[in-house]
Order: sequence, then C-alpha cells, then structure tokens
Amino acid sequence: VRKKHVWTSDKIVKSPFQDVIIPNLTVAEYVWRNLDKWPTKTAMICSVTNRQYTYEEIYKQSHILGANLRKKLKIDNGDAVAIMLPNLPEYLTAVFGVLNAGGLATTLNPNYSAHEVHRQVLMSNTKLIFVTPEVVPTVKKALDLCKRNIPIVEVNFNGNLQEGTISFKELVEDNYVDLNILKEVKRSAEDVAFLPYSSGTTGLPKGVELTNRNIIANAEQQNNELRFYAYTTDSHQDNLLVCLPMFHSYGLSILALHKFSVGLKLVTLPKFHPETFVQALSKFNFNLLYLAPPIVIFLGTHSQVVSKYFEHLRCVTCGAAPLPMADIRKFLNKVPENVHFSQAYGLTETGPLATACPIGYKNYKKVGFALPNIELRVIDGNLNNLGPNEVGELLIKGPNVMKGYKDNPEANKQVFVDDVWLKTGDLAEIDEFGAVTIADRLKELIKVNAFQVPPAELESVCKEHPAVHDVAVVGVPDAKTGEKPKAFIVLKGNINVSDTEILDFVAERVAPYKRIKEISFIEDIPKNPSGKILRRVLLEKYC
Ligand code: AMP
Repeated sequence: VRKKHVWTSDKIVKSPFQDVIIPNLTVAEYVWRNLDKWPTKTAMICSVTNRQYTYEEIYKQSHILGANLRKKLKIDNGDAVAIMLPNLPEYLTAVFGVLNAGGLATTLNPNYSAHEVHRQVLMSNTKLIFVTPEVVPTVKKALDLCKRNIPIVEVNFNGNLQEGTISFKELVEDNYVDLNILKEVKRSAEDVAFLPYSSGTTGLPKGVELTNRNIIANAEQQNNELRFYAYTTDSHQDNLLVCLPMFHSYGLSILALHKFSVGLKLVTLPKFHPETFVQALSKFNFNLLYLAPPIVIFLGTHSQVVSKYFEHLRCVTCGAAPLPMADIRKFLNKVPENVHFSQAYGLTETGPLATACPIGYKNYKKVGFALPNIELRVIDGNLNNLGPNEVGELLIKGPNVMKGYKDNPEANKQVFVDDVWLKTGDLAEIDEFGAVTIADRLKELIKVNAFQVPPAELESVCKEHPAVHDVAVVGVPDAKTGEKPKAFIVLKGNINVSDTEILDFVAERVAPYKRIKEISFIEDIPKNPSGKILRRVLLEKYC
C-alpha cells in the first residue's frame, strides 16, 4: 500500500494507490489493444465441451457478427441488444459483436421466467436477443407478453434451429459480409456500453447505465500495484475459471472483459454443478480464481475438491456477498500457503469493483482499499462524514461509478449525493489506513447465493394473487445460501389460502433462486407515515 495518509481533513478517504490514466476509448477498441501480442493463444474454452476460440478468431467472428447485426438485422448506434446466455465460449463474441455494431449489451439471467424477460425487454427497449435453445420458448412467451417481434439469435451447435430463430453460427461464419459497414458506427467513451439490471438501494430492478469509460476505468483500476502480474507472456498464459455468470457485472467486467484484455485463457463453466466444477479443476491448472461466497464454501467443504487442484493457484478473490471467517479458513486449509486470498467489494453500479486488497494483505475480514481514482465517505443519517472506525453508510465517487439508472430521474436523485457520490446502501467502517470492512446491509436487497433478489419484485408478484391484501418480503439468514426470502402476508377479509398456494403462485412467475421460502400470515404490515415498509421492525418482531 503506497500512501499512508488517506484521510483528508474533510473525512474523505482517498485511494492509497497511484491514480491511473483512463484511455479515451470504447470497450470494443480497448480490448483489442493487445491482440498482436497473443493472436493464436486460446481466449475462451468451454470446460465441458472443449469448444474453444483463439483471440484472433474472436476478433474476426465478432467483427463479422457486428457487420451482420448492422446490415441484416438493422442494429443501429445505441440500440440495446439482450444477451441471455449461460457462460459459453461464445459469450464475448456476442458482446463484442453488439458493441462492434454500435449497440449496447443488456444482460439477462438465462433462468429468468417469461415475466422477468418481458420486463427487461420493455424497460431496455431491446431490439434483438441472443439465446440458447433451452430458453427459446420462454423468450417467445416473453415477447408475446410485451407484444414485440424482435430477432432471436440462437447459439446452437448441436441441433436444428427452432422455428423463427436466426443461427448465431451463420452470423459469425459469414465470409461474404462487407465489414466496411462498421465504419458507420459512432460510439464515444461517454456512450453507454452495458445495461445490467440492479434494484440498487430500493424498489424494482433498474437499468444501470455503464459507459465505455466506466468499464475501461474499472479494468485500468486493476492494472496497477494491486495486481501487477504478467498474466500472459510468449511462453506462459494464466488460466482463469469463469464460473461466476457473465450476465452479472462481476463476471462480465472483472472476469471476462478485464482478463480478456490482458490475454488470459478464460475457461467457461456453463452452469454450477459439483461434478463439472470438480472436472474443470482437475483438467485445468487454474492460476486465478474469482469467486462468490457459495463457491468458496463449496470448495472448502466438498470432499472431491482436493489440494492438488490448487497447486498452480496464485491468487483468489471473493466478493458479491459477505463471507464468514469459518468458511474462509476451511477453504484456506486446502490451498498452498503462498496463495493470496482476499475479499473485494463493489456493486453493479460501480462497474463493479470499488475496493480490493493488494497482494500480501492478509486481513481476510476486510474488503480492501479504494481502487485508484476512487474516493470513499462514510456518512451518518444527516449526510455528515464520519471518521476512522465509525460505522455508517458507504458512499463512492470515481470514474467507474455508473452514469445513472436509465430513464429514472427519481431513482437517480435518491442514489446520488451532490450528483457524484453514489450511496451504496451498505454499512461500512474504514480504518485509519483506508481499509474497509462491510458491517451490514442497510438497503432492502436480499442476496441469495450472491444473486440479487429485490423484495419489491416479490412483493409485486405476491400482490397479483387475489387473496393477498398486503405483503412485505425480507431476507432471513440461511446457512447454505446466505439469505432466503421470507414473506409476511396480510390476507384479504375472509379469503382463506394456504402458504403452499402462494409459494407455488410466486414460483411460477420468478427465476428459481428468487422463490419465497417461508410465509407468515400477520394482521398488519408495519409502515412509516409515508407508507414505507419498516423491514427491521418485522425482522425484530417476528424473526
Ligand atoms: P450487486 O450489484 O449484485 O453486485 O450487489 C452489490 C451488493 O453486494 C453490495 O451493495 C453489497 O451489499 C454486496 N456485496 C458485494 N461485495 C461484498 C462483500 N465483499 N462483502 C459483503 N457484501 C458485499
């Protein structure tokens, strides 16, 4: 850690690391800056099927795809294109194809229900969607719901295309398309490149506008003394397991885009399954692992995960949700002593990485220090800055902080202080050297297996049930998944309904990980005078 004095007299915490320069480029330009250093090295490989592509193959295919998206499928500058794919070796080809065409990528969880897909397609004004064969029926249902007829591009290597879809393979292998059409693309560093969805501190999921500059800043913020590695040289290439989903900003930005830009071999795992995970560990000598708490717990406790799989490991980072010390210890028991393990912290809204630990820092409870060019504040309820080791809400300012929520001035007003400080909705304390500890979550968001489960979304689904008069959903602790959603329901007058009926009703409308796990029927939901649900009161009274 470089600078010792990170606290200013106004109680703002500066990054201890040297500022970095952020190149004035688009993501599509940025990722190819090093192409001629490793054109023939493997860029992406599927750990299950071994389907793989070199850097120059992805370059070529993503440019052909970009030209075809523009010419045949009429994607124009600034159009939103949805990517609803698991972690496949074609994922980044699709992303770069969209960016090359001048579009922006909005990512969706492939487990989403038609209801969830329909909502994001409408909100983002999606013009085209990439899918795998399994989700075609869901997407068709979603497009019926929103009365849209947009092209569905099917990533399919093993069978016939489904009716009404377009072949991804044909779009990327077309040798006749005129690439000159890409000269029409007009995108600048300040334009939005990615539009993931996050509920932020309150309410329903909102489109998080991450510009090219946000994404490039977040990549450059990791290319410094925090992680100064020669990941890839003529004679060596680091292997990285891409097990966290690329539809989440952690997977897309930190694992995929940043590591692609520095030449790693990205080994994709399409779905978390203990057997395929262990196979991947045994097949590849991973040098780097980026994990979320459920996977650290899995690695630490699963009997088939043995120390020999970690002999080549150099660095392990965990983020996205709290990780108890006991789970860290179990994992560390299996890895060589010289492996750097640390937690990191961030939000979709910060592109996502905001804090991380430099190599050698061994306080596992901390989530690290502000990345270069980032400033932090911890505030009380009156927006006063707090000092070292005082707990309050964490605010973040930096070039990686989102432009804002799409078409949502109200939410932007709530989440920004003075237009530049992002309210995280997390309670944190910062020590005198600038190391951050996350104390608790102030916002209503529930995290199940590190995935966002916005209570407002479950509440709105519950309210569609004819027997439900009022409802509040909160997160309660769960040993396996971190938290699980529990609903408090006030029934209408004399309607009788079982909890199973409501659980099933919700289960049909949301992705499996968002399902409500428990219901309590109560008389009244505690609210403040302006109607805001008092979730802490519910937790204290009933849980
Ligand atoms: P997301 O936007 O899905 O990445 O969720 C961001 C939220 O995840 C943060 O606001 C925190 O509540 C939580 N989070 C992320 N990293 C950590 C961490 N290392 N420890 C505790 N909570 C975390």
